[in-house]
Amino acid sequence: MDPLLIRLETPDSQMQSSTVRQEYSRISEKSDDASLQVTRLREDLERLYLITQALWQMVKTATGATDEQLQEKIRQIDVEDGRSDGKNTEVTRPIDCPVCHRRILSGQTFCLYCGAEAETSPFRHHGH
Ligand SMILES: [Zn+2]
Repeated sequence: MDPLLIRLETPDSQMQSSTVRQEYSRISEKSDDASLQVTRLREDLERLYLITQALWQMVKTATGATDEQLQEKIRQIDVEDGRSDGKNTEVTRPIDCPVCHRRILSGQTFCLYCGAEAETSPFRHHGH
């Protein structure tokens, strides 16, 4: 007989398998939560994409700017952090307080230690 089956048929293993079932259902719930979050993030992203497209159409019409100029601007902003990698990590980089020089967490607009206002860009956000 398979040693695993023998173990599963003993009373002690019945308890173990109930623990395994509980653990499985806990993990399964967590996984459902995570996929719901991913779905919501994807929807938010689609919406942002749509808004960006609408804004660009309006800017193009109002200013006569071209797609090539937009591409060039994207490239310029991409390399501001020293790397051409499709993102600008400059806006997530931690900065130091201009007054007490302690670290200001990304996403904060003022120093938690002395209350000084941080010089931030409106695009500054939490890194991922
Ligand atoms: Zn400070």
